[in-house]
Amino acid sequence: MAKRSVAHKSWLPEANDPATSFPLTHLPYGAFEADGQRHLCVAIGAHLLDLHHCAESGLLPASLVAPCKAPVLNPLMSLGPREWTLLRQTLTDLLHNSAKPAKRARVEEALHSIAGATLYKPVEIPNYTDFYASIHHATRVGSLFRPDSPLLPNYKHVPIGYHGRASSVVPSGAPVLRPHGQTRPSHPGKEPSFGPSRTLDFELELAFYVGQSNPLGTPVPIARAAEHLFGVSLLNDWSARDIQAWEYQPLGPFLGKNFATTLSPWVTPMAALEPFRAPAASRPKGDPRPLPYLRNAVDQRQGALDLQFEVFLSTQISRENGLAPFRISQSSTRDLYWTPAQFVAHHTSNGCNLQVGDILATGTISGPAVSSAGCLLELTRNGAEPLKLPTGEMRAFLEDGDEIILSGYGEVPGQPRIGLGDCRATILPARH
Ligand code: MN
Repeated sequence: MAKRSVAHKSWLPEANDPATSFPLTHLPYGAFEADGQRHLCVAIGAHLLDLHHCAESGLLPASLVAPCKAPVLNPLMSLGPREWTLLRQTLTDLLHNSAKPAKRARVEEALHSIAGATLYKPVEIPNYTDFYASIHHATRVGSLFRPDSPLLPNYKHVPIGYHGRASSVVPSGAPVLRPHGQTRPSHPGKEPSFGPSRTLDFELELAFYVGQSNPLGTPVPIARAAEHLFGVSLLNDWSARDIQAWEYQPLGPFLGKNFATTLSPWVTPMAALEPFRAPAASRPKGDPRPLPYLRNAVDQRQGALDLQFEVFLSTQISRENGLAPFRISQSSTRDLYWTPAQFVAHHTSNGCNLQVGDILATGTISGPAVSSAGCLLELTRNGAEPLKLPTGEMRAFLEDGDEIILSGYGEVPGQPRIGLGDCRATILPARH
């Protein structure tokens, strides 16, 4: 673990602990319940700093007072990157070791323990788009259903995506009801059936928040695309595989996906991810170069992210026995075939207007090894090879009472580690 340089030190000792998810260099945004109201905040160490309180007590520049008193981040996002930088710099100064004692005292009045806080979804999300950026996921899923040609011919040319549903995006901790749906007939000539999904799955993903809109009809060039992104959260794109398998042709995902999508509570600003930038994954020899509207030298050099992910599962029985959740997968954004700037450039290339607060998710993040697969469909080869858990239980797909916890972090030499916070939910039985 790198020693924290003076530049990164806070007067709040726990923010300098190498194990914290929220050092001074992170400052992710959230929203919490304060006296019956929703207040914006940033996380620092084991605390959150109430931005509404900071705005009221004169700690913020005038241009930031109104957006920091809003219940969601959208007004702040709408101000654009210059104001995002101004707020981040202001908050860094307030919490930095060099802050004067009188100022520290005023900041301390706005600090609350994260442990006791109720966290909300901090962004009003108008639209949700889901990409399919992991070539390892696309290939492994394709190989289950099309062993002869796992990867469709468009994959290496087009960042494949679909429009998800924003209304069912729920905050971490909210339970997920097992959905009902129509599934394929068990034998040819029989009727399809309707009932609770039997093959419920999770998908580990990273969501990018759009912070700047573009007018309808005006594409965002690849060179400017990164500026349109505000930050990231972890996302679980729950998937009912049996419903999905029967409905997805010819128009793609629908009710197998839109019953719930879970989002982690903290929005890590893109600025905090600068130390974790990485070159775009190198394309194997023979792969096509991206078309010019998707190609940019800076983006290829540093447009990807070096973030690591873990997926944990706990079951009713494991919790009753006091066991910690089991880790069932580990992966990285370094393996994605497309960069976030390519998502924006492609999404707007036909003139589609992105809106402030939209989320663009990566799609399931899977690496080359099966142990790095970001969903059970891959981990268990569509249920054929169930996971054996330390409790002795088997899992082909999720059972009622199972809890899935996604976690992510950035860790590179010479920089404080940052943690993205948990994205978790427990499966409840289907309604009668
Ligand atoms: Mn997905």
